[in-house]
Amino acid sequence: MVSDFLELGLSTEILNAVAELGFEKPTPVQGTVIPKLLVEDGDIVCLAQTGTGKTAAFGLPALEYLDRTNPRTQILILCPTRELCRQISQDLTNYSKYLDGIRIVSVYGGANITGQMKDLKRGAHIIVATPGRLLDLMKREAADISDIRTLILDEADEMLNMGFKDELDAILAQAPEQRRSLLFSATLPKEVEEIARSYMKNPEVVTVGQRNAGSDNVEHYYYMVKEEDRYSALKRIADFNPDIYAIVFCKTREETQKIADALQKDGYDADALHGDLSQAQRDHVMERFKRHALHMLVATDVAARGIDVSDLTHVINYNLPQEIELYTHRSGRTGRADKKGVSIAIINQRERGKIRRIEAVIKKQFTRLPVPGAREICERQLVHLINGINNVDVRDDIYSFMPVINELWDGISREDLVKKILSYEFNRFFDYYRKAKDLNIPEKEKKDRRKSSVRDSEDAASGDNTAVKGRKANDGNPGDCEKGYVWLRLNMGYKNRVIPRDIISIMKACGIGKKAVGKIEIFNEFLYVALKESVADYAKSQLNGATYDRRRLSASLLR
Ligand code: ADP
Ligand code: MG
Repeated sequence: MVSDFLELGLSTEILNAVAELGFEKPTPVQGTVIPKLLVEDGDIVCLAQTGTGKTAAFGLPALEYLDRTNPRTQILILCPTRELCRQISQDLTNYSKYLDGIRIVSVYGGANITGQMKDLKRGAHIIVATPGRLLDLMKREAADISDIRTLILDEADEMLNMGFKDELDAILAQAPEQRRSLLFSATLPKEVEEIARSYMKNPEVVTVGQRNAGSDNVEHYYYMVKEEDRYSALKRIADFNPDIYAIVFCKTREETQKIADALQKDGYDADALHGDLSQAQRDHVMERFKRHALHMLVATDVAARGIDVSDLTHVINYNLPQEIELYTHRSGRTGRADKKGVSIAIINQRERGKIRRIEAVIKKQFTRLPVPGAREICERQLVHLINGINNVDVRDDIYSFMPVINELWDGISREDLVKKILSYEFNRFFDYYRKAKDLNIPEKEKKDRRKSSVRDSEDAASGDNTAVKGRKANDGNPGDCEKGYVWLRLNMGYKNRVIPRDIISIMKACGIGKKAVGKIEIFNEFLYVALKESVADYAKSQLNGATYDRRRLSASLLR
């Protein structure tokens, strides 16, 4: 891996543009991929987490080998969303600031197609496209990819998640044989491997950082509240962080809109981003968010995928995603390019298992935080306000008004004046929080739960193991497992309240499907799970050292 831009073999024009963007050294993915693309031939599959600088990793070399004297389309970049199309084109425009005459055209659905046809007609060295729209433009003979030398699939996993398989097949089938293909993806699900197998020539697989691992700069927290308090908890988090600049992820478009509306009604600078909005609405929302006129962007996963907004203070999981992988993508929006990030999940009492499953995948632990109370929030807000007042720059214009001001405030003590000013700003807050209850799940209920779990284990100790299938009361050795399977032993058990469903999820998170999982035997301190021979070693390597329920896992095979 090369760790200095000067040693990568890039031209001065590009180096100057990169320096102006403030990039000091190549990120690991850039240091690995750029030299390969510049001096070697051959296809590449590159797996890297979000926020690792993949755009420049493919964008800079692509610009280097572009022939500006040839007006035909030479580079095709496919990506899943319109926002990402625009972002990639913008990035490429920035990188090519000192290269004259390069035409980059981005085409995506939801926007007027005739405008895009005109753009293409004027010439496009590089097309950045979403698959559906490109195919449409190819059918209308407005886009011609018959001469492309380089094909780049960005966020390939997400393109497939979004159901672009057929479009990709159709496009790839028409791309010329003589080309170089690059595929970038955060994860490598089966479908992506299949694309690589069918359309790429012996690709070299480059993995930068650990597969599926969460970004290292991100800290993970959760707040546990009753289901009905989810929205109030979100408001408290926002109030407790007066400088909040966050993406709030919701499950559905409906929920996204509902939460954004509620936040607006409650006086927050928030808006929604989801697929039901028109292109113009989405642009407007993004534009406001990027210039910080909005402090909270309430979004669906699809709409927010790949969006690069630097300086996010928080990523908030208003609801945890159905698929654990999505959590990685969400939290990857914060902590970009060496900055610290905070990812928060609001969960109800029943969702703690989900947190554990995510911990097992991202190999990092969550910290539970108490939902801030009225007093703490008011204090934070006051400090924020006073700091704001202290730091304000006092303009000369105010002096001419001083006589009036002095007259109106004549005879009021400094202390009274301070109280009045702060109350003026703050009474609304105080009113709201005076009635505010404690959203934390009260100790009493927790105790009750603990009591009932003690009862459960007493039942178990007395040999009653009918409640959970596969549960064994006393520690011991497992029986025989199915033929072709081996026992994998894990250092957690009934004591940790693991149930078979958790084990299936853990396996799934490591990329092992239900079909490869056989019998499960859970003892008090540890458990055995039968795995197909073919996946057993892989499972062991994935699980050893991972974290689940705050404990380091140790896995061994009983062969
Ligand atoms: P990815 O596609 O891997 O998610 P991006 O290409 O969107 O990541 O880059 C993430 C952020 O990092 C962007 O804001 C980008 O400008 C910034 N960035 C990229 N390369 C560097 C670098 N070498 N030094 C500093 N910042 C960088
Ligand atoms: Mg990207």
